[in-house]
Amino acid sequence: MSKKKGLKIILLGAPGAGKGTQAELLVRDLGLTHLSTGNLLREAIASGSPLGQEAASYMSAGQLVPDEVIIGLVEEFFGQIGERGCLLDGFPRTLPQAQALAEIMEAQGQELDFVIEVKTDPELIVSRLAERLVCKKCGAPFHAGSKPPKEPGICDGCGGVVERRADDEPDTIRKRLAVYAEQTAPLCDYYEKQGILITVDGNLSREGTYQQIKAQLGVAMN
Ligand SMILES: [Zn+2]
Repeated sequence: MSKKKGLKIILLGAPGAGKGTQAELLVRDLGLTHLSTGNLLREAIASGSPLGQEAASYMSAGQLVPDEVIIGLVEEFFGQIGERGCLLDGFPRTLPQAQALAEIMEAQGQELDFVIEVKTDPELIVSRLAERLVCKKCGAPFHAGSKPPKEPGICDGCGGVVERRADDEPDTIRKRLAVYAEQTAPLCDYYEKQGILITVDGNLSREGTYQQIKAQLGVAMN
């Protein structure tokens, strides 16, 4: 990979697997452009491009932005990035999206270098997310383990009720993880067959997981 200017990497991981922190570290150490679906949509809408306007119309109606719009935005992104490195985070999520991405990159003469899968035990994710708490009144975040409110269940700031988000209830998380696993398993197979899939252990500390990524990428990082 010496003659290439930047690595093109996909990061896969279940919601709550710790993917976000690994993405931050990779972007920082490898100087990558971070492409999350959220970033992509925000920039497209800010640019006012026709696709951006289309995306905005779905979002303001509270609807999911359809695949073909997202894929169109990804195509615009790869048309602009050239030889610079990037980290894709949250896209592709499904096999058809991965196949669309392959066509886009091939048309630009680009190729993927690595797909990193952060694999975390679902029950560990359930217990990690179940510790997140929030004030229902002012939205202040708390954490049952590392940042509990001074008085249990009561916000330090406003005195409101502090509890778990509905999204973080164990049964809700388990359902979300099952959907993720079903969508992502074929994606991992697809990239494994191409010989570019790297699987790392998300059950470790954030530093431990990152050490595994660095070791497997085998690229010079500090
Ligand atoms: Zn509060």
